[in-house]
Amino acid sequence: MTTTNTRHYSQVKTWKNVRPEQWDDWRWQMQNRIKDAASLRRILSLPEDAEEEVKMCLCKFRMAVTPYYAMLIDPTNPHDPVKMQAVPSAQELQVGKHDLEDPLSEDEFSPCPGIVHRYPDRVLMLVTHHCAMYCRHCTRRRLVGCNDGLLSKARTDECLAYIRSHPEIHDVLISGGDPLTLSDDRLEDIIRRLRDIPHVDVIRIGTRTPVVMPMRITDELLTMLKKYHPIWINTHFNHPQEITPESSAACERIANAGIPLGNQSVLLRGINNDAETLKTLFTRLIRIRVRPYYLYQCDLSTGIGHFRTSVNEGIDIIAKIRGFISGFAVPTFVIDAPGGGGKIPIGPEYIQELNSKEIVMKNFLGNTYRYPNEIDG
Ligand SMILES: *Cc1c(COP(=O)(O)O)cnc(C)c1O
Ligand code: SF4
Repeated sequence: MTTTNTRHYSQVKTWKNVRPEQWDDWRWQMQNRIKDAASLRRILSLPEDAEEEVKMCLCKFRMAVTPYYAMLIDPTNPHDPVKMQAVPSAQELQVGKHDLEDPLSEDEFSPCPGIVHRYPDRVLMLVTHHCAMYCRHCTRRRLVGCNDGLLSKARTDECLAYIRSHPEIHDVLISGGDPLTLSDDRLEDIIRRLRDIPHVDVIRIGTRTPVVMPMRITDELLTMLKKYHPIWINTHFNHPQEITPESSAACERIANAGIPLGNQSVLLRGINNDAETLKTLFTRLIRIRVRPYYLYQCDLSTGIGHFRTSVNEGIDIIAKIRGFISGFAVPTFVIDAPGGGGKIPIGPEYIQELNSKEIVMKNFLGNTYRYPNEIDG
């Protein structure tokens, strides 16, 4: 791992007079996000032609970078993994032959606006299209950043009515966009009403704020969430460079509130597509009490082809990780199937042969072992 030359915000002209208590306030971070090409160029000291490139992309997909996340970028590294996730590139304008607008057919599985019901016992509830930072590789890039961002009161009522009238739903994933861009009150209103539905056992929140705006994880937020256990949170770290004292502390606070934390990474070409980087990421995540849950094959959203790896590459990477680090640090590698098939686990093949007499298997080192497949008596 190479060392990075990140800066402190006081070294950046735009923010040199910002007080620490402002910097540590998530509302300040939200209000001061970098949204235009000129500010981005100034803050990251990008060359002049980069400004044009960013401008072109902004006609198509929104940009917002929190000051906190911008400071994780090493300005001397042209392939910085944080920058690649945050800064638009002209490659986004290319439409690949397999690209899709709605790669997971979420619209088709939506019984009412805001709900995606694909699996028997659980639903996705999309409460906002806003995010703290717009990831360049986002699956829902067709939606995020739209101006009609919040789920209206009427639509929220409709979603809750749908969940209430479907007793088979035991698990509700609050997602978006990023639900933690909502105020605590707005979020509590949704969570409280979900908790009032007797058949809803688990409430999960999908949020990238611990990574891109860790100051969002306030004591007030956690005091509120704790009232509605079991609450689970899944976040989205993609690279070890995102594990900072601030993001570690945010995860620590969440874990201390009794909320189990999982991580969903995306396999991204040029960012994290090698076994060493991911091994470092996953082992550091368990140190900060975050359990790697899924590693996604990059999906077919339009304009993110430059981030995609081959499927074989992902499988080879998992083969180099499973068995070499703690089992619970290894996420399940999945493809979220185009057309709405859901997440399908794929991975290295350990079965060499399976017949009525025995199974022949390969272990993580490639050695062969056998186990009988005949039942006595
Ligand atoms: C990912 C997803 C879920 C949750 O799946 P798990 O495997 O339980 O984490 C639920 N609904 C939809 C539509 C999803 O995309
Ligand atoms: S935080 Fe999630 S929903 Fe928002 S832009 Fe990133 S990947 Fe997309």
